[in-house]
Amino acid sequence: MLAGCRRVLPAALGRALRGRAAAGGSGGRRAVSTSWCPVGAAFDVKQQRGSAAGRETGLFGVPELSCPEGFQEAQDKALQESEQLVQKACSTPPGPEIVMIFDQLSDALCRVADLADFVKIAHPDFAFREAAEEACRNIGTMVEKLNTDVELCQSLRQLLADEVVMDSLDPETRRVAELFMFDFEISGIHLDEEKRKKAVNLNIKILDLCNEFLTGTHLPNKIDKHVLPEHIRYNFTAEGNYLQVAGLHADCPDDLVREAAYKIFLYPNAEQLSCLEELLASRNSLAQLVGYNTFAHRALQGTMAKNPETVTQFLEKLSDQLSQRTQKDFEMMTKMKVKLNPQNSKLMPWDHPYYSSVLRAERYNIDPGLYCPFFSLGACMEGLNSLFSQLLGISLYAEQTQRGEVWSEDIRKLAVVHENEGLLGYIYCDFFQRPNKPHQDCHFTVRGGRLRENGEYQLPVVVLMLSLPHSTRSAPTLLSPGMMENLFHEMGHAMHSMLGRTRYQHVTGTRCPTDFAEVPSILMEYFANDYRVVNQFARHYKTGQPLPKSMVSRLCESKKVCAAADMQLQVFYAVLDQIYHGKHPLKRSTTEILKETQEKFYGLPYVPNTAWQLRFSHLVGYGAKYYSYLMSRAVASMVWKQCFAQDPFDRAMGERYRREMLAHGGGKEPILMVQVAKPCSHSRSPDRFLFTDRFHQTLKLVDFALLQGKS
Ligand SMILES: [Zn+2]
Repeated sequence: MLAGCRRVLPAALGRALRGRAAAGGSGGRRAVSTSWCPVGAAFDVKQQRGSAAGRETGLFGVPELSCPEGFQEAQDKALQESEQLVQKACSTPPGPEIVMIFDQLSDALCRVADLADFVKIAHPDFAFREAAEEACRNIGTMVEKLNTDVELCQSLRQLLADEVVMDSLDPETRRVAELFMFDFEISGIHLDEEKRKKAVNLNIKILDLCNEFLTGTHLPNKIDKHVLPEHIRYNFTAEGNYLQVAGLHADCPDDLVREAAYKIFLYPNAEQLSCLEELLASRNSLAQLVGYNTFAHRALQGTMAKNPETVTQFLEKLSDQLSQRTQKDFEMMTKMKVKLNPQNSKLMPWDHPYYSSVLRAERYNIDPGLYCPFFSLGACMEGLNSLFSQLLGISLYAEQTQRGEVWSEDIRKLAVVHENEGLLGYIYCDFFQRPNKPHQDCHFTVRGGRLRENGEYQLPVVVLMLSLPHSTRSAPTLLSPGMMENLFHEMGHAMHSMLGRTRYQHVTGTRCPTDFAEVPSILMEYFANDYRVVNQFARHYKTGQPLPKSMVSRLCESKKVCAAADMQLQVFYAVLDQIYHGKHPLKRSTTEILKETQEKFYGLPYVPNTAWQLRFSHLVGYGAKYYSYLMSRAVASMVWKQCFAQDPFDRAMGERYRREMLAHGGGKEPILMVQVAKPCSHSRSPDRFLFTDRFHQTLKLVDFALLQGKS
């Protein structure tokens, strides 16, 4: 599921979507626009496009972006504006205004870069994608330059050094000032010129190595076709005398195919191996150059876990607690293998995903075909709407788009409206499959929320991307239970963006530490699996019948099958990531470390002449933070148990969750937010701290990680 979530560049996007519904001060309630229509209907019928009469605009309502060339214009404007802001920052005396100017600077660059970051991936027109890519590169170069600009840094340093002024700032402003300083520091701003140059060069080298490694993780391996028995060759792509193995074929019922795919796909490639080793060594050099013990220490600063020691403690404890249950899961899988393949019954790593799904299917009849008719997209959207309205007083409305505003006809635009506060922001729903669209469920921040200089609130704008089938003549778009859960998950990210009412866009919504970022989205999965919630919206699209309670319980129970083994595998990956980014030089080769770690933290045997780590693409994006998902899940489990398990529609809890967690975006240290999760729902002292210290907190999180039915 990690792959399904795209974390966003640190910082946001701006001014672009001015006008129209965005008017009005930050406090006053805005009237419901007549162009808004109920959200469910917008997804179940083909959208009637009255927009031909509307005025012409560009992507996301940015006028310049009506053609690909517009990116150049938007980028030039941003660069020009940023130069002015740099001058302003350098000539302003220490005070809160400095932080404001830095945020404006970040906003000016990110409102183009973030938008372009989405367009370069998702726009159907190649010319748009190419122009966006170019803009991303140019702005990226500018950001690098600014992060090593000594004069600019000096203005911030003066502020941070001025105790009197710092003491007078509110906590959010202080934190944002520190975060900006942190960006300078990890770029090596405090070093002398020679070392700074070295840091810049290392950064460039790392970026190249990351790209090279990432490409290598997907490359197929080739093998002489005669090596494989004839009857399984058809499973792989033939290329003359060779067969291409492009993946693990983990769901294939034939044990031999899975074994062959595992051994061939994971066969070590010398170039990829040296690329990984160089990447890890360079990351370590950079971290040490800018003053950290290891790359993990550098990466974990500012996260919920704070340091590698806490992460390791969390993972080791979790592994200890899991191991017995994992053992039981492996025994069950082995029994199943004996039953289906008596000649060759030793459980191997290529068996785990397959036999757990066999066990799930055998015990619970959860064929998606049985569930889909109850989950039409419109019904699911109405379900979300109803949940948000009961919990948070928030409604979703479909809004008509202008000509040129969206990149495909089937995009829906949702206005997110609070019952008292009015319009909170926009969610563009890019939900349907189309050729060349990446198969990824993602949340993109297109513009961050922030308080503008004139006192207006800049409304956040995000895109949610899914890959759902289109409706047909006879049926609306129907979701499998997995798709429904993903929709809820991504909506969790979107609501984090909508409700993170931070003063600064640098910490808007999902721009928070990686190990906290998945908390709001995973929490939504708990809602998606609760019968009381599902029962509110799951209706058969033809008959209107509700989804039987037994079917929902069956689904939930099925998720517990082999959950310990699944989580154990994630623990193993996370530990591996910690060791690779820990103390250097590494004591052994990356393959030997993999073997050792696999035996200790997973349990299924290492297979000689394989090197799974060379396919571990998350080492690039999540370097030293792969544990994040496990930790976020533990926190989400805690929030669910303590706040919503008793009543998933409890408005007071919803408000509290919004106030204590969502509202801060990345503007408050996550651990402080986690601590205020209510100890028990009847407590009279709602602000009592849950944890007495970091050690207890880690133990507690392990408990909550173990509670979850699903890993
Ligand atoms: Zn996510």
